[in-house]
Amino acid sequence: MAAMIIKGSEISKQIKEELKLEITELKKKYNVIPGLATILIGEDEASKVYVGAKEKACKELGIYSERIDLPVNTTEAELLAHIERLNKDSKIHGILVQLPLPKHINEANVIDAIDPKKDVDAFHPVNVGKLILGVPDFLPCTPHGIQELLIRSGIETNGAEVVVVGRSNIVGKPIANMLIQKNKKGANATVTICHTGTKDLASHTKRADILIVAAGRPKAITADMVKDGVVVIDVGVNRLETGLVGDVDFETIKEKAKAITPVPGGVGPMTIVMLMKNTVQSAKMHAGIS
Ligand code: NAP
Repeated sequence: MAAMIIKGSEISKQIKEELKLEITELKKKYNVIPGLATILIGEDEASKVYVGAKEKACKELGIYSERIDLPVNTTEAELLAHIERLNKDSKIHGILVQLPLPKHINEANVIDAIDPKKDVDAFHPVNVGKLILGVPDFLPCTPHGIQELLIRSGIETNGAEVVVVGRSNIVGKPIANMLIQKNKKGANATVTICHTGTKDLASHTKRADILIVAAGRPKAITADMVKDGVVVIDVGVNRLETGLVGDVDFETIKEKAKAITPVPGGVGPMTIVMLMKNTVQSAKMHAGIS
């Protein structure tokens, strides 16, 4: 049986509509306008596209946005000074520094400098810790998008065997930690994390009720590595000459799976919308609105 296609493009539109209403109400009732600042250093084309898409989403939803483009030779001290100013700016509730940074800038120092209450990427150690403790102010955007896709598609995580392929700080580790939380909605799963040190990857992936793949390798997962009825969340974005592909062999796995996300149009559109959600959440936190 062909799988249900989990359309992130549709679900993200639905969340945008919800956010529009929330933002309108924030303005009307409390005179609060959520604000997001994005800092882009250098001329990386993919980063420019991501920052542009974030600006566009802000405009569409009525979020105030400030974009700071800095030359590639910007020093770490100069970048930290921009962050310090934004930390104090009451119009700004979210600060996003587009990664990767040029090599001469220490990424950890930059993330540490962002006020955790404005860290809408949720990469600051305080926010990573709060996520693990199960008391997050913000959830990181891509894992949060994955969790929303599961919830809104009616995929049961409670008691499910989840296998995550990839242990990066932005996808693998946070999604695994979110799904083990003792919360029956979108969590309470038994989670295995696989990586390049995993012996016999297929022996793990074949056990998965829900398989989340963030390896950054086209066809890292093939149909013989999954069981019938699996739910597959493909986080991968690989640019091939033939176009964008994910990390799983979509065409063959969709014949075995119960549900699967496409690439593009799956996890990707969710990431930006969850960033907008975090910015709104931050504006509410700053205004003392629960
Ligand atoms: P990353 O930092 O490169 O991490 C990849 C992880 O996968 C590593 O932990 C690596 O193991 C593991 N891995 C790679 N090949 C493997 C294999 N054959 N078997 C088992 N494990 C393997 O990547 P990332 O930042 O998490 O991103 C992963 C993918 O998701 C990329 O394609 C990226 O573009 C995409 N992505 C998409 C979005 C979105 O919004 N759609 C957001 C973020 C990332 P080791 O740790 O042992 O090296």
